[in-house]
Amino acid sequence: MKISFAPPRIDEKIINSVTEALKSGWITTGPRTKLFEKKLAEYCGIKNVVCLNSATAGLELILRWFGVQEGDEVILPAYTYSATANVVIHCGATPVFVDVNNDFSISIEKISKVITDRTKVIMPVDFGGLPCDYDAINSLVNSDSVLSMFNPQTENQKKLNRILVLSDAAHSIGGKYKGRRAGALTDVSVFSFHAVKNLTTAEGGAIMLNLPYPFDNEDIYKEIVIKSLHGQTKDALSKTKPGAWRYDIVEAGYKFNMTDIQAAIGLVELERYELETLPARKFICEYYRQKLSGFEWADLPIQMDGYRESSYHLFPLRINSVSEDERDRIIALISEKEIAVNVHFIPIPMMSFYKNKGYDISDYPQTYNYYSREISLPVYYGLKTDEMDFLVENLKECVESVLNAR
Ligand SMILES: *Cc1c(COP(=O)(O)O)cnc(C)c1O
Repeated sequence: MKISFAPPRIDEKIINSVTEALKSGWITTGPRTKLFEKKLAEYCGIKNVVCLNSATAGLELILRWFGVQEGDEVILPAYTYSATANVVIHCGATPVFVDVNNDFSISIEKISKVITDRTKVIMPVDFGGLPCDYDAINSLVNSDSVLSMFNPQTENQKKLNRILVLSDAAHSIGGKYKGRRAGALTDVSVFSFHAVKNLTTAEGGAIMLNLPYPFDNEDIYKEIVIKSLHGQTKDALSKTKPGAWRYDIVEAGYKFNMTDIQAAIGLVELERYELETLPARKFICEYYRQKLSGFEWADLPIQMDGYRESSYHLFPLRINSVSEDERDRIIALISEKEIAVNVHFIPIPMMSFYKNKGYDISDYPQTYNYYSREISLPVYYGLKTDEMDFLVENLKECVESVLNAR
């Protein structure tokens, strides 16, 4: 029995939707992308969404829009995918890493210790799909002591007059916090539709705009769309209308737009997300939870509590009291059985580029502890119970064989 980690759900519906987009003659950004934006906004209960070619592009675009630059600091968890930190580097700013809690979310207590007059943005990550405690983060950035430290430089920074909370919600579409959905929990959130994510467009991402007064999110939407397409005042679709050939370039923008072929996948994925995808993912995670709960070595992830629920993007299992080396041996053994598991994530301070910049994993002990014991189990639509039974049985054997070899 061979088990993959996260294959996409490519069925007739997806193929037909993409075929229709191809046959329509309009393949780049157009009506399907605009419809997908509208449906995403409805799903999350906000008004303005910009679809792009990736979440990374979305995160960078918002940092640029806010005017983040050299000399500025951006606070983010040490335990995330490198995209979250790389975009800060692209802007010339300094990533300030913070350790995480037992649920893998950024420690708010530790955020408050590293805020300075250079801090412009906090980027919490909804690890595995579980929303962070946004009420606590939003009230921290609005607290008197933090407000008095804020040193605005650009027009948008002066208008917000506090630290921007930019949520890396790459995992959390469909996740819930106090009755609201991820995407609507803070100033700006960014989803990823990469091939392995809960809801895919092959590659893609979306910026969910939820900025407070005096910002007009409709105006910001227009501004971001222009920024995402060379700073050009007209998109390809409006330029094809007879006589509407003239356009202007108002800034040196980027090339980050989503195509209608991607949106054709996304529209099908979103339509069946709440009633098919999410329940299937939740079932899988609960099945693992029930099967593993009897083992002393299994440290099960928090995916739901009194005020929030995960989108069940990952099942980040930790093995109690193993070393990094022992965890690696467990993975090597289970891989021999043709079962694909994964590790989320190798902490950023352990990556060469960041190590060379002077970051040191020993400054983030919880991050290292969780990483060194973490094994993500497969979660995808179509994973069968007999496959999960097979997986758990083999995992048990592999863990016990490594523990007994001590
Ligand atoms: C996947 C991922 C991203 C990047 O998403 P892309 O759409 O591939 O750019 C960012 N942050 C986290 C935590 C991710 O897992």
